[in-house]
Amino acid sequence: MINNSKILLVYTGGTIGMIKDFETGALRPFNFDELLQSIPELKLLDHEIETVSFENPIDSSNMNPEYYLKIAEIIEESYETYDGFVILHGSDTMSYSSSALSFMFENLNKPIIFTGSQLPIGDLRTDAKENLITSIQLAGLKKNGKNVLSEVGLYFEYKLYRANRTTKINAEHFQAFSSLNYPALAESGVHLDINEAMIKKANRRKKLIVHKELDNNIMVLKLFPGINENIINQLISAKGLKGIVLETYGSGNACNEDWFINLLDKAIKNGILIVNVTQCIGGSVVMGHYATSTRLEEIGVISGKDITTESAVAKMMYLLPKELSSKVFKTIFETSLRGEML
Ligand code: ASP
Repeated sequence: MINNSKILLVYTGGTIGMIKDFETGALRPFNFDELLQSIPELKLLDHEIETVSFENPIDSSNMNPEYYLKIAEIIEESYETYDGFVILHGSDTMSYSSSALSFMFENLNKPIIFTGSQLPIGDLRTDAKENLITSIQLAGLKKNGKNVLSEVGLYFEYKLYRANRTTKINAEHFQAFSSLNYPALAESGVHLDINEAMIKKANRRKKLIVHKELDNNIMVLKLFPGINENIINQLISAKGLKGIVLETYGSGNACNEDWFINLLDKAIKNGILIVNVTQCIGGSVVMGHYATSTRLEEIGVISGKDITTESAVAKMMYLLPKELSSKVFKTIFETSLRGEML
């Protein structure tokens, strides 16, 4: 099978891009020429690889919507030139960035694969090489002359996931991500095993739309037993606040005492959109299942169903600038736009 694809590799920063200086032993960011030299295996791939790097690569803890836009514009400008895109990114906030990119690219017909590593590329035991090489292979994979993947993916430790379904779950293990509510799109073993039934099918007739406006006037509020009325009141009265991702217990349950419900009700009446997501890393919000979520439903809290917090944050940032009525916002939020929920 001839599989000659053109891939654009975008380096934003993160551990993957560090290399050990043999003289000092310190870790420092590499440049792309060094990368190609430190992974001679890349030359064995059939694909033509071109690279572009952030001028000042960042630790992904410093990621924000301005950088999302920068990544999106790099891809948009070269969308027609390449068959696939691989984004090298720190693992810490990779699920947030890749979820955001999945919403920003409507009618995506080419793969955008995020990857990174737990150990720098220069480390003897690095996971960076496998992650990078397989991500490039996946981004370039073709069948009958057409790319196999056409969505935003996240590849880490032998598994390709739908990016907006992932969460970073481990700061130590090479298997740093999980996607408990959606199966892996592909697994790398002796063969690259594509889960055909679960991948998004390309619709080549629809034109790519890149949504560039994101609104970050939002917050994530994680409930815990003993949460304080006064503090929540202060938080939800913050000037400019437009949306809250409310991390509740289990299947979407929260304290149903009057003071709590009244505070949320007041916020909703003031036009703040509240989405209910679960603190669990798997499973779904089912409002009305327990009495402790019935009142949330009654006051107009939106169900995040089985969406991750990362993806809910991204979806909220993406939908807020559309200035929808709260009714339409609720309907759209509760609908899967990029495969991020059931
Ligand atoms: N702190 C790093 C980052 O997210 C960790 C990593 O790359 O895995 O940029």
